[in-house]
Amino acid sequence: MYLCVLILRNMKIICTGMNYREHVRELNNVAPEEPVIFMKPDSALLRNNEPFFIPDFSRDLHYECELVVRIKRLGTHIEPRFANRYYDEIGLGIDFTARDLQQQLRAKGLPWEKAKAFDRSALVSPDFINKSELPDIQSIKFELRKNGQTVQQGDSADMLFGIDALISHVSCFLTLKIGDLLYTGTPAGVGPVAIGDLLEGFIEGRKMFECKIK
Ligand code: ZN
Repeated sequence: MYLCVLILRNMKIICTGMNYREHVRELNNVAPEEPVIFMKPDSALLRNNEPFFIPDFSRDLHYECELVVRIKRLGTHIEPRFANRYYDEIGLGIDFTARDLQQQLRAKGLPWEKAKAFDRSALVSPDFINKSELPDIQSIKFELRKNGQTVQQGDSADMLFGIDALISHVSCFLTLKIGDLLYTGTPAGVGPVAIGDLLEGFIEGRKMFECKIK
């Protein structure tokens, strides 16, 4: 237990922006030539199916459902062909985003942190799936439902930069540590949440999380 707390305290959350072509298009952006990376602090974590409270600084708070990779060993400058040795488990999360604030900050060329890294903005599923249990690690299918209706459907095969490429790229800038979480980007279909909504996430049809919006 003590060890577990230590790992959590030292972990970091690395997120990927614009990693699915259709999502890049829906935000009227141009596909990036290399991975777009940003961070959230550990205070952003939202775990154990806890509710999400819409912060008062946003009028356009969006869900972004994403596959989350848990790093299992220390690494830096990892070659793509060895990247698969650095993770065993895949979870599902939401990168909650204050879209209105993000657009204002981007327009001014300022950092995104206020729009992306605020408290409880990084939902992560209580459980992770071992990659050996997935039918195809190169094509992981996931889904987000809002109030019972499917709003996002993703397939990791559609990522502009796959999991191994992301791990390799990130590790050239940031040393990866045990317990770090890598959010791998969201597919098309992002949209707003309102008080009373229920979000539910699935990987390969298996329910990974639920979250009530308050
Ligand atoms: Zn995202």
